[in-house]
Amino acid sequence: MKLSFRPVLAVLAALFLTIPVPAQNSSEGASVKLRTVVIDPGHGGKDAGCVSRDKKTYEKNITLDIGKKLAEKIRAAYPDVTVKMTRDDDTFVELENRAVIANKANANLFISIHVNSVEKGTTANGYSIHCLGQSAQRGNDLFSKNLDLVKRENAVIMLEDNYEARYQGFDPEDPQSYIIFNLMQNAHLAGSLTFADDVAKAMGSSPIKNSRGIHQDPFWVLWRTAMPSVLIEVGFITNPDDLATMRSEKGRSGIADNLFKAFAAFKARYDGTAPETAAPAAQAEPVAKDGPLYGTQILATGKQLSLSDPFFKGYKPVEVKSGKLYKYIVETSSSLKEAKAKYTEVQKKYPDAYLVKIQDGATSPVR
Ligand SMILES: [Zn+2]
Repeated sequence: MKLSFRPVLAVLAALFLTIPVPAQNSSEGASVKLRTVVIDPGHGGKDAGCVSRDKKTYEKNITLDIGKKLAEKIRAAYPDVTVKMTRDDDTFVELENRAVIANKANANLFISIHVNSVEKGTTANGYSIHCLGQSAQRGNDLFSKNLDLVKRENAVIMLEDNYEARYQGFDPEDPQSYIIFNLMQNAHLAGSLTFADDVAKAMGSSPIKNSRGIHQDPFWVLWRTAMPSVLIEVGFITNPDDLATMRSEKGRSGIADNLFKAFAAFKARYDGTAPETAAPAAQAEPVAKDGPLYGTQILATGKQLSLSDPFFKGYKPVEVKSGKLYKYIVETSSSLKEAKAKYTEVQKKYPDAYLVKIQDGATSPVR
């Protein structure tokens, strides 16, 4: 498939002319506290989201209940944190507005809650965690195995009045529309991946058993938020075990508990109150399973180092094992441009460092 960039660039230009993103929250420094979190229960109102095979259970109700439970837990534990919800009842909220709510609130973290679903005949189960990412372009295959999911979650915009004007021609069903995501910087990827990792750890094997991992995908709502943002598909409405869990009060409460634990871990690190051991493990492995990451490789060694080793001078490296070598890469980003800019800084401390691409668990030099 030959892709023409011109209409896409027009879309992009139009978006920036018409939907300004508020100035970035400058409060992401280590000395600043996490003050505001936005919880985004997917779907609502006329948009039911996924529906169970017996038609009795709707995604919108599960996401709202888990979202409310999570909000309650955070409010109870952290009275000084403002918890905002994109909706706290069964109303329809436009996709773009969800991001606007978070941006206006100057949120430090955005948590979007969804439920997954598959066609009849498959029994896929488990939860998955998604950060914004480039659509991996391999041959004619424009993006990842999550294509159906991405399309479905983005297709919500088609229920909105006047969506063609609002989204300036972005068509969630058209792979070509997704090129706009490739042209974006993702300034909050590191923070998003860190929270994704916190969620992965906290979810563990209960109450939903199967972890489907951390992914990077072009979700509109994650793209439009100006802070670390993660979308969690908590389980499959089409899987009988997952559904039973999500239908039960105990199950939903357990999921909210896990999300709360992830929030607590993230906040502790953000606020600089995390125990010494908590931070480095967060990026212990390359979590970007789909799109490539770029970064600066500062070391390749036969001996595995602790990620808090003084050699790393405070950087939190990504470790990539290659044969008998351990490679350590810092300042990773899905944006080559951003990684290049950081490389210049890193090279001052590590003169032999060089720029690499990380994909599918392997590194290759970038020239
Ligand atoms: Zn959804």
